[in-house]
Amino acid sequence: DSFFASHIQRIKQEKRYRIFIDLQHKADAFPRARHQNKHDVIIWCSNDYLAQGHEPHVIQAMQDALRNYGGGSGGTRNISGTTDLHVQLEKRLARLHNKQAALLFTSGYVANETTLATLGQSHPHWAFISDAANHASMIHGMRAAKAEKHIFQHNDTDHLEAILATMPSDKPKMIVCESVYSMDGDFAPLKAITQLAQRYHALVYTDEVHAVGIYGTNGGGGAEKEGVMDAIDIVQGTLAKAFGVMGGYIAGNAQIIDFIRSTAPAFIFTTSLPPTVVAGALKALDHIRDNPHLRTRMLDKAQRMKKNLKQAGIPMLASPSHIIPIIIGDPSLCTQASQMLLEKGHYVQPVNYPTVPKKTERLRLTLTPKHTNAMIDDFTHAITHVWKTIGRHLKE
Ligand code: PLP
Repeated sequence: DSFFASHIQRIKQEKRYRIFIDLQHKADAFPRARHQNKHDVIIWCSNDYLAQGHEPHVIQAMQDALRNYGGGSGGTRNISGTTDLHVQLEKRLARLHNKQAALLFTSGYVANETTLATLGQSHPHWAFISDAANHASMIHGMRAAKAEKHIFQHNDTDHLEAILATMPSDKPKMIVCESVYSMDGDFAPLKAITQLAQRYHALVYTDEVHAVGIYGTNGGGGAEKEGVMDAIDIVQGTLAKAFGVMGGYIAGNAQIIDFIRSTAPAFIFTTSLPPTVVAGALKALDHIRDNPHLRTRMLDKAQRMKKNLKQAGIPMLASPSHIIPIIIGDPSLCTQASQMLLEKGHYVQPVNYPTVPKKTERLRLTLTPKHTNAMIDDFTHAITHVWKTIGRHLKE
């Protein structure tokens, strides 16, 4: 006990002890939720970007699947855990990314970790060239592979090229990046990255978790937006953000997907996603495809919020995407700002180290098509007030 308590004590001293805010979500009133049965708050940090997890059509599809298929899948994909819904969803995801095949996992984290670990172990001379800002799930996957790894400075294609140029052209190598970076909201230069990959004979692995369903004409993500879908070898995504439920996937050429299906431990040795979740994702996918105005509306809302915050003098990172990082740069003040906002009816979780580097602690805002202009204006007033207190401490 004392061993673990001393670790926790250190985390508390570093002001990065996490306190979860438990909320009673209201499916019919999202983004409103009830906080500790006391008062209503507006959620400003949900990754249910298009509010699909709270939409009647998704809920209905999940209820129908529950009635028709039961609660769980009943096994691993190999042993009774593959339903026609799983097969349909994999086909739809492959089509969304213009790939031959796709494969479902129980989360986006698992998809990244097990795919990269398995690829890295597939060949004794394999090398990863990884963006410095990649998500923990990719870092852990590459680490587990115990393969050669090089890190290029974030979004720096000159540095990437310098690393690639040192490698023999017949060496198996893979560039690993995200398309939209989750905490800063910036886009990867995918066009330049894929051109380098072709010049130096490298594969490209792109995490589209924060872009899929939102960017590109069909919601295919950052690669579709940049017109480079065919130059990405493996796309990784989630069902937990724009599609509103949970689960992860990869998509790519049939052979590479079959290889992961046949060898990746966290795909093989675990119970598959429940049919309810798969049915919800299928419905959300169709709905987003048929209603592109949802994406435009969400992006418009984010734009309005950025404009408001700028006018109010609140310091933001210049994010070109829907992710709005308000930089506070101090873990205690970040937590204090979040608590003050909560008291005013606005819930935005403080994001502290190790999720972001120290001194870049922040409030990360994400809007949905269901946030109204009145809510955005009200949040602006609240944070302007909070900033008067926080800003005073920041100057001290
Ligand atoms: N990749 C990135 C960039 C993420 O930000 C996240 C989670 O937020 C994941 C992967 C993991 O996805 P999931 O939540 O589906 O496990």
